[in-house]
Amino acid sequence: MRTYSLILTILFCSGKQVDSDWIDRTKHEGLNDIDYSELFETYCTEKNPENIKNTVGNLEQAKEYFDKTFKEDLNFAVLFVDNQNWNKYAFSPPPGMPQAHYQGNIVLGLGRSVMAMQAEQGLKQVPDSKLGILKQHFGEEINLDLFYRDALSLHELGHLYQFYKTGKGTQRHWLNEVFGNLCQVAAAKYLTTQDVFNRMDVYQLFLINSNQWGELKFKTLNQFEEDYFEVLRQGRNYGWYQTQFYLKAKELYSKFGDEFLNEFRDFLIDINPDKVGSMDDKELNELMINTFGSQVVEILEWRHDS
Ligand SMILES: [Zn+2]
Repeated sequence: MRTYSLILTILFCSGKQVDSDWIDRTKHEGLNDIDYSELFETYCTEKNPENIKNTVGNLEQAKEYFDKTFKEDLNFAVLFVDNQNWNKYAFSPPPGMPQAHYQGNIVLGLGRSVMAMQAEQGLKQVPDSKLGILKQHFGEEINLDLFYRDALSLHELGHLYQFYKTGKGTQRHWLNEVFGNLCQVAAAKYLTTQDVFNRMDVYQLFLINSNQWGELKFKTLNQFEEDYFEVLRQGRNYGWYQTQFYLKAKELYSKFGDEFLNEFRDFLIDINPDKVGSMDDKELNELMINTFGSQVVEILEWRHDS
């Protein structure tokens, strides 16, 4: 009898394993299992990486928030990858541009990433008098990994809660990115300190207000859809789109709060083209008005289409 109940216990406990099976473990080959968290899996190109405790701690709080908001207990893995090995584990350069794979993995930079250092280089042309606010939040020696790794890791984790339900099915990239930004804003607000939120806000407003972009090849939503990977490759142009999505996400979150994340995710699940086929803009717009109401659709309206 004792053996019998032991087997049953093992069977019940392993129920959790079914969920974790969505994680693509081939992506972990060659990485060290560093076991930095009890809430999710952590892998790294180094054996004893330093300076990622904060990122892991923030992700633990973010998981708590997303699990509660989306009523999940999501298993996932976080891969910390250094510059040299980036292309082996991530699908797009530059090293340190955080990304989420469809099957349970997010990839983050390690140490001083190329992504952050490139962006810091861009700040060299800005007069010192205008950098005060950034130094206040990112240190006298401005360290933008605090944005690209710490803040954006929340965004990527948000994508995993979406992909877990939708797989690769995507009706519009721009809706995915609004969702990612919404998750980023909401989780950052949930953290015990507002440091991460303040950094993401200060930095992105700085980029917008100081017009750091120069000439942009792409500006319309159609281009974002049709040339998505080309925009992604042109990191600067992708960054511009992201700041626009960020502003919308911030407004949506401040008006509609936590429950809106859930409604938005449900919407992404419902419009999955694998289920309902691809929709044209008119159809999609009508459905958004019916689902969210006109106030939301107004906020989402794109003002850079001409
Ligand atoms: Zn995203």
